[in-house]
Amino acid sequence: MTPARWPPGWVRAAETRALLAALAAAGIEARFVGGAVRDSLLGRPSRAIDDIDIATPAPPQAVIDALAAADIRTVPTGLAHGTVTAIFAAARVPRRFEITTLRRDVATDGRHAVVAFDADWAGDAARRDFTINAIYLAPDGTLFDPVGGRDDIKARRVRFVGDPAQRLVEDVLRLLRYYRFEARFGSGAGDPAARAACRDAIPRLPTLSPERVWRELSGLLAAPAPLRAVELMREDGVLAAILPEADRIDRLAALLALRVADPLLRLAALVSVDGAGAAALAERLRLSRAERDRLAGLAPPWPVDPAGDERTQRRALYRLGAGRYRDLALLLAAEGAIERPRLRRMVAWAAEWTEPVFPIDGHDVAALGIPEGPEVGRLLAVVRRWWEDGDFTAGRDDCLARLRAAAGR
Ligand code: ATP
Ligand code: MG
Repeated sequence: MTPARWPPGWVRAAETRALLAALAAAGIEARFVGGAVRDSLLGRPSRAIDDIDIATPAPPQAVIDALAAADIRTVPTGLAHGTVTAIFAAARVPRRFEITTLRRDVATDGRHAVVAFDADWAGDAARRDFTINAIYLAPDGTLFDPVGGRDDIKARRVRFVGDPAQRLVEDVLRLLRYYRFEARFGSGAGDPAARAACRDAIPRLPTLSPERVWRELSGLLAAPAPLRAVELMREDGVLAAILPEADRIDRLAALLALRVADPLLRLAALVSVDGAGAAALAERLRLSRAERDRLAGLAPPWPVDPAGDERTQRRALYRLGAGRYRDLALLLAAEGAIERPRLRRMVAWAAEWTEPVFPIDGHDVAALGIPEGPEVGRLLAVVRRWWEDGDFTAGRDDCLARLRAAAGR
């Protein structure tokens, strides 16, 4: 059984057709493979498919030449691995095509492989990670499924191609990919053979770059329903190895029940850290500066008083900004510190919030004859504090009067 609309819409999109035509004109055979095929078999809408992997027996240079002859721009993304990227930036749905020559791993070092471009389709399938990722789709809609991926999709089984232990020796990144794919496609219990092999491979995880670990982890946390995969990682000792701070699965579960999709907020719920611990975690996993600041800003103690009156809430909104205030409200709810009606109120306040503009600035201080220097900032802070205490109602004239009083003029 294939979905009603087959082949999927993206196969017939103008760019895909142009690409296939360019390859065909050079006598090059091509089949789609990987996430685009897998997700389409699962009924994912065509417009949501933006990364398309193509496998071909032709060597990379032949692919580059064929596309150049049709004026299709390529980037030699991973030429050593046989990958050429074709880009159609101006397309209605911008898509990235990665065209990879059928390959065989000749030597592996635990992460990277030396490859040979003499594989056939079955050989290419054998070096892919999971059966659900090794389903090939010819442009006419015919499926080739050399390792039984379609049955595994139906059974919601994430199964390694070949012997899991061996595949993890070749590339330990597959360990994290395993749990990430479990989060999206697994049925709950996981594959016992895969899990056992993952447990054994944990000592090799430190060979992965922190950036890689975070990319996989945030990808896992971004899955629609990642809870079970996080539990599997905990049961298998993987969570303790990569994220020892993660001892609040209960809070993550509660946050997920609130339909929070944001992976960083999910991470904040999952870990027990204070601000310094959050910064250290962010540093270790090489989160971006923005991610680090957000995570640290979500660590307890939480600077909101959820029981306070509306005035108190407006003050918190002003100090924290609406986004952080809302995130903290969600964390408070996940913690069980506030009930749903209160959460709804707080989320509504955040949505309705427009930040009031402090009506005076340094020019007004200078106009009183006060020279530049720390005194200017001090006076503004005094008036601003008073303006905040007054629930932001004081206008410019009132603030100027208060400023003159504070300055003793
Ligand atoms: P996603 O939706 O997360 O992008 P994907 O299956 O497309 O899923 P990619 O990382 O884009 O995953 O890789 C494309 C394909 O390349 C995979 O489907 C798989 O067949 C193969 N692949 C990627 N990484 C590995 C790996 N480390 N080992 C073996 N095969 C891999
Ligand atoms: Mg992909």
